[in-house]
Amino acid sequence: MPAVPTTTSQRAAALRDALARAQHEYYVLDQPVLSDQEYDRLFRELQTLEQAYPALRTEDSPTQRVGAPVQSAFRTHRHLVRMLSLDNAFDQAELVAFEQSIERIVGDAVHRSGYTVELKIDGAAIALTYRDGVLATAATRGDGTEGEDVTLNVRTIRGVPLRLLGDDVPPLLEVRGEVYLPFTGFEQMNEARVAAGEPVYVNPRNAAAGSMRQLDPSITAARPLRFFGYAAVLPDGTAPARTQWELLERLMAWGVPVAPHRARCHTIADVGRWADTIEHQTRAALGFAIDGGVVKVNDIALQDELGVRNDRTPRWAVARKFAPDMAVTRLEQIDVSIGRTGVVTPFAVLAPVDVGGATVTYASLHNADQIAAKDLRVGDIVQVVRAGDVIPYVLGPVPERRDGSEQRWQLPAVCPRCGTTIVRYRDDVASYCPNVACPGRQLEGLVHFASKEALDIDGLSYARIQQLLAAGYVHDVADLFDVSVAQLVALERFGTKSAENLVAAIAAAKQQPLSRLLFGLGIRHVGAQAAQLLARQFGTRDALMAATPAQLGEVRGIGEIMATSVAGYFADPTARALIERLRACGLRFDEPNAVQADGPLTGATVVLTGSLPTLSRGEATALVEQAGGRVTSGVSRKTTFVVAGEEAGSKLDKAVALGVEVIDEAELRRRVSGT
Ligand code: NAD
Repeated sequence: MPAVPTTTSQRAAALRDALARAQHEYYVLDQPVLSDQEYDRLFRELQTLEQAYPALRTEDSPTQRVGAPVQSAFRTHRHLVRMLSLDNAFDQAELVAFEQSIERIVGDAVHRSGYTVELKIDGAAIALTYRDGVLATAATRGDGTEGEDVTLNVRTIRGVPLRLLGDDVPPLLEVRGEVYLPFTGFEQMNEARVAAGEPVYVNPRNAAAGSMRQLDPSITAARPLRFFGYAAVLPDGTAPARTQWELLERLMAWGVPVAPHRARCHTIADVGRWADTIEHQTRAALGFAIDGGVVKVNDIALQDELGVRNDRTPRWAVARKFAPDMAVTRLEQIDVSIGRTGVVTPFAVLAPVDVGGATVTYASLHNADQIAAKDLRVGDIVQVVRAGDVIPYVLGPVPERRDGSEQRWQLPAVCPRCGTTIVRYRDDVASYCPNVACPGRQLEGLVHFASKEALDIDGLSYARIQQLLAAGYVHDVADLFDVSVAQLVALERFGTKSAENLVAAIAAAKQQPLSRLLFGLGIRHVGAQAAQLLARQFGTRDALMAATPAQLGEVRGIGEIMATSVAGYFADPTARALIERLRACGLRFDEPNAVQADGPLTGATVVLTGSLPTLSRGEATALVEQAGGRVTSGVSRKTTFVVAGEEAGSKLDKAVALGVEVIDEAELRRRVSGT
């Protein structure tokens, strides 16, 4: 046996210590301090040293055990058959090496068997014992031999069958699977913890593991945990199926939820292609965390022949690990961006880090309250997630890794783009730069104006708008219509053809209907749909600008906040001047599909109540609107008439009390047809 150099044995001892501490933080406290990537790197390093110098492989080495021994708070449960961990493969070459290690034992048989591949759910392993089909106990993996009896908690998890279906359920069966927390539930839970001043869970896996080990089952019940099964064993250690694929099908037939996107692969190359698709396409839309795929030899007889390595990992399965969609890195700085409405959004400038296969340098921090609630400080080591979303976000700091040099952050008092004092409106968590001429707002405002749902100006990209602003050609949206071909060709990356195309696209946008213009103006609270409702109801810009907040608020779907915002916008002299300039540029200020201006119900305000004999609510509303009338929800003295159907309730009573006319569907039809 080779003699171990002192530095190497010291390094191995340091690694054992670091890994043992990390395992305790991860498995027992459910509060890891290292990222999985950091942990895996140290683990690999120790494994490599131990392979080179087997004398280093001490019995207590973290490479020799599964999970962590059980805690005293719960009764221990002995598993029917030992629960294992999985070896990792980080790329295709390691998958090929996995196959070769199998070939060395069973030869070609592995090619005849092929593989079943499954999502590797990033949750906590659980073993469910069913006696005569009824859930008897649920236990955590623990150290693989003994786990914690968490039956009361697990019984509260939706998706864990309390009784298995069918008449072919073996009398004693252990179903194994993963308890996990979908991203939405994870975020809600952490928000509640921030609000209660409790530390956030670092990732859905630790949140799931922590939730399962609550002493009070009502806490577990309140958390939206879910379950997927992936294995089943009989008391003699055999599986109730001939292949892994068949096993999953049996589980489903017994009513056990099984994760989607599983597949059968004939070759290891197929496995690689499946893993690539899952990692780069499927993963982002899953709604729950996975940290890889699990590759299992499909034939269970072959699995038995291959057996277990070091009492820790099966030789017939491997975890093909993906780049984590959660990572830790340093928060270098907090900056703010200014949106088109002036909203000030703090964002994190991070030491670049790979999260789910993409390099992340910036992440949203939402608003100042969130930063304070999470106690994020500049210089902190932070957790960054790409939770099913494209935009990464900072989950929270790792306070254990502070060294005292971290700085608390405060929202700047003035806008970094224009120097105007930042304001915060009552009842709004966001802060705003109130200066409409702020260059930050101008850029975002122009981008919004040109966007698909607004004026849809082809070729007017973010980069081009930045160019136009930098050249001083435009300051606001009206300036766009004065940009000439000659001006554009003077800019970089513009040829005559592209300049002509852009000018033509801008000119074409003049024909867009009022609704798109209204949305494009970026009035606070007015989305594309609200803009459409308003434009269709009022028909022209003049009618809209003349409307009072009360009249605006009467449009179905337009609430008080929106009505006040629209009226406020049109009352603002700067906005009025802008609109005047747009009119002078030749923009269209009407809505082709508007409600008739002089229809039989023009000026009428109508309330619908009860169910009408033939018309649905939507159809009746459309009839009234096409005839020029407005449908509102509440009866008042201003209501022209109420259309009442069967089971009309309080609105009918109120109409009668106020002396408002009440008619039926037949009369409504007569009136809208103008007869
Ligand atoms: P593992 O989680 O990597 O893999 C084994 C587990 O995968 C099984 O126990 C099972 O629960 C789960 N699994 C999910 N889907 C499965 C499926 N379809 N089929 C079979 N199993 C499936 O291994 P482990 O031993 O539990 O933990 C080791 C990993 O935990 C490390 O690689 C590291 O990422 C992480 N860890 C991190 C820290 C830290 O400090 N950050 C500490 C300890 C462990």
